[in-house]
Amino acid sequence: MAETGPCGPCSEIHFDRGAELSEGPECIPDHSETCPRWLEFWNLVFMQFDRAGDGTLTPLPFKSVDTGMGLERTTAILQGVESNYQTDLFAPIIDRLAAHLGHRPEQVEAERFSYQVVADHSRAMTFLIGEGVKPSNEGAGYVLRRIMRRAVRHLRLMGIREPVLAETCGAVIDLMGAAYPTLADERERILDEVQAEEAKFARTLEAGTGEISGEEAFRLHDTFGFPIDLTVEIAAERSVRVDRAGFEAAMAEQRERSRRSVASALPLDSAVELELEKLESAFVGYPNQTRLDDAVVSGIFPLADERNAVILDRTPFYAEGGGQIGDQGRLMGPHGRFAVEDTQRRGNAIVHVGRVIDGKIKVSDTVEAHVNERRRAAAARNHTATHLLHRALRDVLGEQAKQAGSWVGPEGLRFDFPAAKASSRDELRQVERIVNAQIRRNAAVIPTQMSLSEAQELGADMFFGDKYLPESVRVVRVDSFSMELCGGTHVAATGQIGSFRITGESSIGAGLRRIEAVTGEGAEELVASQLETLRATAALLGAPEDEVPTRVETLLSRVRTAERGARSAPEAAVRLDVAATLAAAQEADGTKVMVERFAEADADALRLLADDLRAATGRFLVVAAGAGNGPALMVAASRDLVGEGFDAVPIVRQVAPLIGGGGGGRAELAQAGGKNLAGLDEALREAGRLALEALANLETA
Ligand SMILES: [Zn+2]
Ligand SMILES: [Zn+2]
Repeated sequence: MAETGPCGPCSEIHFDRGAELSEGPECIPDHSETCPRWLEFWNLVFMQFDRAGDGTLTPLPFKSVDTGMGLERTTAILQGVESNYQTDLFAPIIDRLAAHLGHRPEQVEAERFSYQVVADHSRAMTFLIGEGVKPSNEGAGYVLRRIMRRAVRHLRLMGIREPVLAETCGAVIDLMGAAYPTLADERERILDEVQAEEAKFARTLEAGTGEISGEEAFRLHDTFGFPIDLTVEIAAERSVRVDRAGFEAAMAEQRERSRRSVASALPLDSAVELELEKLESAFVGYPNQTRLDDAVVSGIFPLADERNAVILDRTPFYAEGGGQIGDQGRLMGPHGRFAVEDTQRRGNAIVHVGRVIDGKIKVSDTVEAHVNERRRAAAARNHTATHLLHRALRDVLGEQAKQAGSWVGPEGLRFDFPAAKASSRDELRQVERIVNAQIRRNAAVIPTQMSLSEAQELGADMFFGDKYLPESVRVVRVDSFSMELCGGTHVAATGQIGSFRITGESSIGAGLRRIEAVTGEGAEELVASQLETLRATAALLGAPEDEVPTRVETLLSRVRTAERGARSAPEAAVRLDVAATLAAAQEADGTKVMVERFAEADADALRLLADDLRAATGRFLVVAAGAGNGPALMVAASRDLVGEGFDAVPIVRQVAPLIGGGGGGRAELAQAGGKNLAGLDEALREAGRLALEALANLETA
């Protein structure tokens, strides 16, 4: 119960399943967490008081009973079965799965846990999809995706590789459809989505083998929002290692990068920081001024990186802000010149960062300030285009596509916004068309200073996060199309932007997309170079330009067919015969034991054999050697043996030196490879001896 609010005495109801299940004479119902005798299935709270923060209890005006009864537990009691999974809520799903897989009851029993997970998760995914949730990387969609993937992973643990979930979800619909008619109505859609996601995950699992590098794991985390633990978990099931240390290093590197990028813009020591606080500069660069002939130097400070910071009383240099980068240019004084490499803001001071290129610059000098015009004009084109893009994007995708961040430089622009999925080619084309239509319209771009409340009344877009907004704000309006609070420099009319092209659309983390675009000369260059690429490709294919896509498609499908042919032949050759292996197995106290050498098998074939055995039989222990591609050795056991303490890893480690190599793996499957083929027979014998010894120890324990 919560710390404060309605509360009262509570009671628990436990069902006694019979003294024969009791763990001993001291057994009491409170043991129901651990003792099979008791089942807590009902809980009642007699709501009586309102508890305040200081602990005082005030009687409630209306008293009530809050009752929480476990539906599945009650069903289990009424139906006289031992667990929720044996009730008629789950048994039909489990039976359907067993029938579909052709499993005998003892196989179902051996894989009981995985069966239960698949049954439970099939029910959850059927209802979630029925409610309209779609698998995705966030919110409810992410929960659904994880549920589905966990079910698939448990099927894989059982050695099942073909799609199965449509079968179990079909069983859920048969079971629940009468009570929940939506499930029956939506049957086709639900099963389609289940199959699509299952196939998608299967492809992901098939894609990689060997080791996942730290960078790759980092990319999965950074770009696709895949948690590292999940990556490790899935990889482990495929006997694929994840370079965890490499991942941590990549994370640390990213943290360092972002720290540096914040710090390096203006590397000041604290004494200079204090001096800067006393200074003020007026920005005189609006609407798009780039020159001032009589600025006065009010401060000059050394920076930690050999550069200097110059402060002027007034300046046309735009300090980085609102997504737009800082200006570059020159300061020309009576005794020397200063190259401005970047402009930043500190408090009320505009800081020109750069180097003295000749002579001297000192406080009180009157200087000419020249902003690099070409660079500023390009940034202005991109900034105004960003405003147009922002409006157009919401017109096409909906109002939720609001600006979450932006970067505006002379080379191009980036615009970040929340979206659950990638925008389609058509949507992006539509956005481009709207922006270019606004450019051709040559609408005036009008900045106005006004009060914050006035701007709010006019409905100006504001994107300052939680930042403090001043009383007086600058609003940049593109006549009758866009209106935003903005401190940036803009073109005078949209026609100056020239042209706008989207160059990329990508994910930058969970739920955020980024559009990159170019304008003006950049757009012109882009189109020219893409046309050149198309021309060159057409020349290589010896086809007219408009036939390039169909020609490439034909070529690709030919390549795929050829690759399939090349791949499938050897794979079929190394698939080992499970039935023959099982037939040759010895039976020791209910465990099938196999020690075998396969001349043609490699490490992969041995692992496949273990997978196949897992699907085909119950308790087993297999020690196998293969010489198909250098000496390979495997020790594998069914999971119930592992549950009783069997561990394949030390056995493999101990014999690996006999084949001149090393080994490792998990308790249920460990493998070794090496260079010394002559030692393979002895390694197999020794591993067999050790494995049987370990098995005997389990049985006597
Ligand atoms: Zn007990
Ligand atoms: Zn802006």
